[in-house]
Amino acid sequence: MQAKHINDSKEMDKKCPECGEKIIGRADKKFCSDGCRNAHNNTLNKDNKNLIRNVNNRLRKNYRILETLNVKDKTKTTKERLLRLGFNFDYFTSIYTTKTGSVYYYLYDQGYLSLDNDYYLLVKREGVL
Ligand SMILES: [Zn+2]
Repeated sequence: MQAKHINDSKEMDKKCPECGEKIIGRADKKFCSDGCRNAHNNTLNKDNKNLIRNVNNRLRKNYRILETLNVKDKTKTTKERLLRLGFNFDYFTSIYTTKTGSVYYYLYDQGYLSLDNDYYLLVKREGVL
């Protein structure tokens, strides 16, 4: 009886990450019930979806700003103008560095290059991405 009791109290240390209830049963059991396991996994998926959606929204916003400003596929604008439209320089889809060391940041096929005095060159990439 003594050995059984010790074994039980060890298992009681494990708690369900969803509801905090003690987990009774097999040692590899991670949740107290199927309901809690499903709820926990749904919450994780939802958080991931929110994160992806938020990043996608920022990328789309940046893309639309570049598209709106860059009507002739090549133009110059200012940092102030980009910021005023809500452009976020932290979000882009790819970087292209030329042989001469110029760094173009791209939102899909719309790109920008930082120039002197807070000016930006806006370009459009041709062909397949
Ligand atoms: Zn639970």
